[in-house]
Amino acid sequence: MVDQAIFLHVCCGPCAEYPVKVLRGEGYRIQGYFYNPNIQPAEEYARREEGVKLFSERHAVPMLYEGKSEEALWRSFPSSLRSKHCEACYGMRMEQVAKRCKEEGYPAFTTSLTVSLWQDHEAIIRAGQRAAEHHGVLFKYFDFRSGYREGQNMAREDGLYRQKYCGCIYSLRETKFTDKICEELGIDPASLPERIDDLA
Ligand code: SF4
Repeated sequence: MVDQAIFLHVCCGPCAEYPVKVLRGEGYRIQGYFYNPNIQPAEEYARREEGVKLFSERHAVPMLYEGKSEEALWRSFPSSLRSKHCEACYGMRMEQVAKRCKEEGYPAFTTSLTVSLWQDHEAIIRAGQRAAEHHGVLFKYFDFRSGYREGQNMAREDGLYRQKYCGCIYSLRETKFTDKICEELGIDPASLPERIDDLA
């Protein structure tokens, strides 16, 4: 058992379930931090942020909230390669997380992104380490993937909103639920930008 604090980047409520269970089991005191401008459009951002608030209350996880949906920024990416978008996306988030980790006085940070079976863990590690070095804190990598299903079940029991796409406006086009989600959000699927998927 360790007795130290950790700054936990929370990408959404469902993804936070299992990491919080593991980190608490290992003796960490957790400060959550919701910073995800990649969640687009703004209506979807509001749904996921609401889910994090519910999660935070249910499990008494202190949570800081910053940023907003930045759809225009993602739409302006010059490359159409998915790997480039995701690298930029991880880099932007980890940079801000490391900065706030330092400002809040925590020695180390990690992210709930690494419970995902679909995220690029190597790219997240690179982004986390780069940001940590930049701000003089530690990035701790935890491979939470073995608890992905358990975390999703916990989220279902907690009544959390469970999204069907990664987050950005590009990924909304890539899910098989595009039409249904667009209808819910009141947007035209034909307006979604397209990219080349070089990570498949
Ligand atoms: S697919 Fe996910 S990780 Fe990649 S750019 Fe979009 S939101 Fe970010």
